[in-house]
Amino acid sequence: MTKLIKLLSAFASFFLRFSHGNTVYTGDILNGHKVITRLSVDDFPCGEVTKLWLRANNNKIGQAYHVPLLVARGSNCNCDENRFVMNTGLHGDELNGIRVIHRVMKDLDLNLLNGTVVGVPGSNVNGLYEETRGYFNSYDSGSFTNLNRQFPGDITNSSSAGEIFATMLWDAIYNDNGYTAGVDFHTQSTSGSFVNFVYADLTIPYVRNMCDLTGADVIKIDLGDGTLGALENVWDAFGVPAITYELGSPLSWQKDQIQRGYDYVFRQLADIHMYPPPTDPIAIAEYKKNYPNIYYGTETGGASVPTGGFLQTFVKLNEDVTTKTKIASLYNVFGDLITDFYPEFDGRLYSLSTHPLREVGAGTFGVIHNSTDPACRNGC
Ligand SMILES: [Zn+2]
Repeated sequence: MTKLIKLLSAFASFFLRFSHGNTVYTGDILNGHKVITRLSVDDFPCGEVTKLWLRANNNKIGQAYHVPLLVARGSNCNCDENRFVMNTGLHGDELNGIRVIHRVMKDLDLNLLNGTVVGVPGSNVNGLYEETRGYFNSYDSGSFTNLNRQFPGDITNSSSAGEIFATMLWDAIYNDNGYTAGVDFHTQSTSGSFVNFVYADLTIPYVRNMCDLTGADVIKIDLGDGTLGALENVWDAFGVPAITYELGSPLSWQKDQIQRGYDYVFRQLADIHMYPPPTDPIAIAEYKKNYPNIYYGTETGGASVPTGGFLQTFVKLNEDVTTKTKIASLYNVFGDLITDFYPEFDGRLYSLSTHPLREVGAGTFGVIHNSTDPACRNGC
């Protein structure tokens, strides 16, 4: 698998530079911005931030989902420049990254920007409508598509609206624009919370540098085998080093998490020579404090509830825990104790349920550590 990805990656990175098509305009203007069905970064003017709508598939009554896009080009842009892509909102209940993109795009000084930054502030338009993680398909009594398992997709063999939508995103935005690196912002799902957390495949060149630049609390080293079709892994496979950056909790705008995402982007742009290094003393001090404490782990563990009930938690995110640390207890509706939860190994608490009501099978917590199994070196 890894070998195949590396081969694909080498081929794709060479090929992509020379395979750009043109931006395809529908001729429509929506809320003052042009509507397109395909993005080619080269078509946009230097020294400007262009706002666009990507028209994806139609809903049942023939109205299209329009995905917002921002293209910021430096004053001296050219076709050999570096390009950074930021995606967010593939899960419609995960909102912190949207604010990161808003703030980065507002604050970029295009006279200092050397290259192009593309931002997608909310890609799962259907999920945002519904405030749901998945894309809701109404066909056949209804189902949800996890868009972040569908890439690159196959338009001719897609069998649901969600799968078709994901394929259109890949073909129109994520593929074919000569991106130098990419980040896909997420948060924990509804009813849970993450620390500042990254999924990353460290076998891909440059990804370790990206992880270091985040200054995140926890990095999960991961080949992506368990999340086939995730945007990060498919970008990796197509020659664009990428990370999945999880910014805390869903359905909220957390100022601290948003600030960490924002500061990462400017460090990232500086590292690929697209922007001067940050000078904000608060951001510099924060990074100096966080960087030495990044916890790189290879294996995660946790527990699901064996029956429905009410969950009480006893620990805080990012605490170091042992197999003797009581993380949570599950009670029935009468207040009788059903069971206590302890980690299966010592490690760092990176995820925690935030909703006391738990149905059978629902998660409770996540702990990460470094496995001693050599087969787990690149994540398991
Ligand atoms: Zn997500």
